[in-house]
Amino acid sequence: MARRIGTRTLALHGGAGPAKPGDPVSPLIVTATSFHTEPDAIGFSANDLAGTPPPFYTRWGNPTVQLLEDRLTALEGGAGTVAFGSGMAAISALFLSRLSAGDHLVLSNVCYAGVAELAQDILPRFGITATLVDTSNTDAVAAAIRPGVTRLVHIETPANPILRLSDIAAIADIAHGAGVALSVDSTIATPIATQPLSLGADYVVHSLTKYICGHGDALGGSVTVRDADQLAPLRSGALIHHGGALSPFAAWLLLRGLETLPGRMSLHEANARILAHFLSQHRSVKSVLWPGLDSHPQAELTARQMRNASGLLSFTVQGDSKALADRLARDLKVIAYAVSLGKTKSLLFYIPTEDILRSSFRLEGEAAASYRAIAGSGVFRFSVGLEDQDDLIDDLARCLD
Ligand SMILES: *Cc1c(COP(=O)(O)O)cnc(C)c1O
Repeated sequence: MARRIGTRTLALHGGAGPAKPGDPVSPLIVTATSFHTEPDAIGFSANDLAGTPPPFYTRWGNPTVQLLEDRLTALEGGAGTVAFGSGMAAISALFLSRLSAGDHLVLSNVCYAGVAELAQDILPRFGITATLVDTSNTDAVAAAIRPGVTRLVHIETPANPILRLSDIAAIADIAHGAGVALSVDSTIATPIATQPLSLGADYVVHSLTKYICGHGDALGGSVTVRDADQLAPLRSGALIHHGGALSPFAAWLLLRGLETLPGRMSLHEANARILAHFLSQHRSVKSVLWPGLDSHPQAELTARQMRNASGLLSFTVQGDSKALADRLARDLKVIAYAVSLGKTKSLLFYIPTEDILRSSFRLEGEAAASYRAIAGSGVFRFSVGLEDQDDLIDDLARCLD
């Protein structure tokens, strides 16, 4: 059997055909919104579309966007990818193409705030209900599935902002046993750490805005499928009719980001390891949450499921967290006090527990208590960048001491 092409090679060459003399060595940005077409090449309705359309109209497909889609398909080992204008556009597209009135969704009770709010505020208006559970507990996932009604389990691993993991292979078995599909938001892991489709997931979604872009200068999202039959509903139903298309220029920036993703992830992980150890030993720090630490409660699952522990960590502190957040926002010099993650430069942001529980997760009782036990009054989410480690340590130490 042929040796499988390596990830670093795929990040550079995946999806590109053989080059001919005269071909450019970098991708072209095709900005055209429509393309010369043969009268019978394509039907006028997206409903007649099968597979990936020839260049026709850029909301349907575009050569620069398609190269990005093909490269992501290669990196995730999938049957195809549809790219969208943002991570939220990708996740909305997946939910609205997979779920109909009367259907039920099982969702991580700790996940990207926008997804928790989409599931709890918007989907119910269309008759779709969601149950939020702690998906790090496989028994809780099994108990939340309603036979014949649940149509999708959506997990985020590691989950923002407490870096809790969910066992993809175990949850895929549970979901498939009940005839339910599994989607995995793998934004924080990236395809460098984990390939969810190879562990049994049916869909893998990314906010391309984060590590894949890497430079904090383009929004994008993607859904990669294991079964080619799932592509048409995503492209004709969700992309073409809901319209969340990715701009060719953003696709080009994302392709450029992908070229260095493997190397950046190694550096992000190495810096995160050093910063996680520094923070763990600091007397003002109460806890450090990073999947690569031996002290992470799921270190065994990290070893099984992540080839790279990624560069996102969170920490909690002794004393007044809000006062420290104010100090960090004012006094950090190297690290930016800003949202988002996965950028070359370090980003840090404070997430107060009561705010996120109330506005996004809406957890109560035991689920809220379990989040509070991990996050205390709030977590400092730190996307460790590629700066020299000692400069990051000095910047934090000045504010923490
Ligand atoms: C940022 C993010 C999203 C949303 O992506 P956008 O590109 O901002 O729309 C979804 N999931 C995770 C895990 C994220 O970090």
